[in-house]
Formats: sequence, structure tokens, C-alpha cells
Amino acid sequence: MDDTKILLSEKDIPQAWYNINADMPVPPQPVLHPGTMEPVTPDFLAVLFPMNLILQEVSTDRWIEIPEPVRDIYRLWRPTPMYRARRLEKALDTPAHIYYKYEGVSPVGSHKPNTAVAQAFFNKEAGTKALTTETGAGQWGSALSMACNFFGLDLEVYMVKVSYFQKPYRRIIMENFGAQVYASPTNLTNYGRSVLAQDPESPGSLGMAISEAVEVAATSGGAKKYSLGSVLGHVLMHQTVIGLESIQQMELAGEYPDVVIGCAGGGSNFAGFTYPFLWKKFTEGKNIRVIAAEPASCPSITRGRYAFDYGDTAAMAPIIKMHTLGHTFIPPGIHAGGLRYHGMASSISALVDHGDIEGRAVPQLATFEAALQFSRAEGIIPAPESAHAIRVAIDEALKCKQAGEKKVIAFNLSGHGHFDMTAYEQYLHGQLQDFVYPQEAIEEAMTHLPQVAF
Ligand SMILES: *Cc1c(COP(=O)(O)O)cnc(C)c1O
Repeated sequence: MDDTKILLSEKDIPQAWYNINADMPVPPQPVLHPGTMEPVTPDFLAVLFPMNLILQEVSTDRWIEIPEPVRDIYRLWRPTPMYRARRLEKALDTPAHIYYKYEGVSPVGSHKPNTAVAQAFFNKEAGTKALTTETGAGQWGSALSMACNFFGLDLEVYMVKVSYFQKPYRRIIMENFGAQVYASPTNLTNYGRSVLAQDPESPGSLGMAISEAVEVAATSGGAKKYSLGSVLGHVLMHQTVIGLESIQQMELAGEYPDVVIGCAGGGSNFAGFTYPFLWKKFTEGKNIRVIAAEPASCPSITRGRYAFDYGDTAAMAPIIKMHTLGHTFIPPGIHAGGLRYHGMASSISALVDHGDIEGRAVPQLATFEAALQFSRAEGIIPAPESAHAIRVAIDEALKCKQAGEKKVIAFNLSGHGHFDMTAYEQYLHGQLQDFVYPQEAIEEAMTHLPQVAF
């Protein structure tokens, strides 16, 4: 097939999500209560999440049906296109074939509505009245705002303070959809007040914002539930529509990737794109390299420890086994706001540990260089997060050039960068720097990991 865009029709939108729990090559690790450090009971999780989503989290069924009202909303932008990056191949003068799946065509410009719509639907079904959440760069908040608006749910968004001021347009998108947006840390929660008492100028962090959103839901007497945009198993599963469509599109293209690449913050777009390919590997033996791209300034996979740690900074969220830089990690203010979480989804961490997934840390300047090279060839301005995947894809394509190998490389372009132009401006004016996270800081944070018996 010679097409540049490989398109599916609406009837090809997957009927079911792929649940990797069915095929994990290693047994699951328990999720622990942050207070008792014993395995959590569904009752504890039920304070934060509706039971239908908790059941998805623990299910070992390989396929979970996508309800029709969710598929109906997916039709607004799905199936998303897959592109053959012919112009980038030419610019790189590589024999490799490069493909990218483009999730930036969703109404809010990223992959995040794939789970936001599902979570709003299941909460509505379960009788939830309002959701609380955190957002970093504002991508997740805008996706959930749109989804809550579709299903008539109220939404409170705790937005990392530095992003609240750096990215006002995302806040306004959320407000357009009817959400309440607060700059976190706020003085609305006990946790936020404690942070502000210590540091009134705190720029906030994703971990802090999570703690605030969790506290509000947990103390709401059941009216409000909490929604997370990444990291959890059901969130990753909702994103598998990306990879399931991609498999159909690669079939149409008449090729199968040798390597698949995604950027990983909490891991949702990466898992959504690559897990269906791992399903083919685990069940049909189709070998493939799977690479998770992360910032050198927040290298949870490549330099974090595989250990039990709290999901949030305040140590209120469940403890999970994951690659972590420590829950006390305060990320540097890099421009890929969506990649600044201290940990990584537990299934990804387990698959890294088992050797099925490789991590690759990339510096900020090389990431922006790749983003510009990609834009100038393909026309799309990528989100800085997605540019990490582009960097790795370009590096792989350049290796093919050196070795004279004609590999097939596919990556997920998780979103566009139209609201990240300040970052691009700083790059163009030579104002961005590389920052490699210091080893002493990692070692110090490791001393605060919870001491668990598992
Ligand atoms: C949020 C975001 C990410 C990082 O989150 P994951 O859960 O790791 O996918 C990556 N790319 C874009 C465009 C995002 O908005």
C-alpha cells in the first residue's frame, strides 16, 4: 500500500478493550493500603472509585466490552489516522519505514479522552454526582472536562500551579466545558494548607495535586469520586483502542513493526499503543521490541528503583510496586509537563523488570530538536511529551541508516503541541537547558520509601 494516511472506518472502532492482566508473564503484585500497608480491600478503593471501574482494575478477562455510549462518543474522532512518515524518512535518508499513530486529532488534542469518556460513563452508571481530578499540563483536565460535560457530571480540577499560570488556555478549555479549576496547592484542603504553610511559593507538583483531589473525594461522603488520567490498570486498558486500531492499520499497510515506541509519563498512551502488540507477542510469538521514552530529568524507568511506593506525595494514595524516583520527588520544571510523575504504571514496571519493555531516557534539547525536525518534514507540531517518542524513533531510524537495515518503526504521536508554543519559543531562542536528574536526589528519596513486608 502506498498511501500516506492509513485510515479505518467507524465500524473498525474496537468492540472491546484489551486487558493485559490476562497475559502477564509474571504474577500481579498486591496493591497496599497507605496506612496499614496490607493489601487493600475493595472497600478502601470504593471510597475513591466506582465499583465497576474497580472490577475492571482487577479483572483477568482478556477482553472488556466497550459500551455503546462510549463507542458513540469515540466516533467523534476515532478511528484515528496512522501515517507513513515518508517525508521524515526522506529527510533522514533512512531505509527504515516509519509509521506514526496520531492521537492529536481528538477534540482536546491528545489520547486522554479515550479513558476520560470511559471513566465518566462508568461513574455516571454507578450514580456518581461529581468527579475530582488533578492535571499537570492541562491535557488530562481538558479531556475529563469534555467527558464530564457529555455525561452531565460536575468536575473539580486541581491543576499544578506552575502550569495553571504557564498554560492559561488549557484552563479556559476546562472552564468552557463547565469544570471548576483550582491552582494546586490550594487552601481548600488540609494537605494543600500544610504545603502552603511550609512554602507559600510552592509551584505544586502532580503528586501534590493528586493528594488534594484524593482528599476532596475521600471526604465527600460518597458524592464525589476521584478520577486518574494515567498509571492505573483500567486507564491503560481504555487506551488500548490505540494499539488495536494500529494493528488493523499495519495490516492494511502490509507490514508489521519491528519496534514500537511511546512516551511514558504514567504510561497510559505508551501502554495503549504497545500492549496490543505485546498481546501478539505473548499469544502468537510475534517478536517485537517495545521502547518507552522518558525525560532524562524524570527517569523513573531507567533510573528509578522497582519498589513499593505511594502513588502520591502525601502518602494517602495506595502503595504499588513500580519503578519510582520516590514519592517525595519534586520534578524540575521541564516543558513536557505530562511526563513528570515520580512513578510508572505497575504493569509497565513489571514488564520492564521481566525484559519485555526497554526504557530510554532522552534529554530535553535533543527532544525539541527531534520535534522540529519532525514538524518540518510532516507538518504536525507535536506535544513536547510525544516528542520523546519521536526522538527515539528518529534515533532508531538513524541506526538503520548506519547498519543499512530496513526496519519497520512505529510510534504513537500522543498529541499536538498547539498549547506548548511557549516551550517552542524558548527552544528557538536558546533558553532551554538539559537537566539530568541528580543521583544523590534519587538516593535520598529512596530513604523515604514505605517499609513494606512484601
Ligand atoms: C498526558 C500526556 C502524556 C503522558 O501521559 P501518559 O499517561 O504516560 O500517556 C503524553 N503525551 C501527551 C500528549 C499527554 O497529554
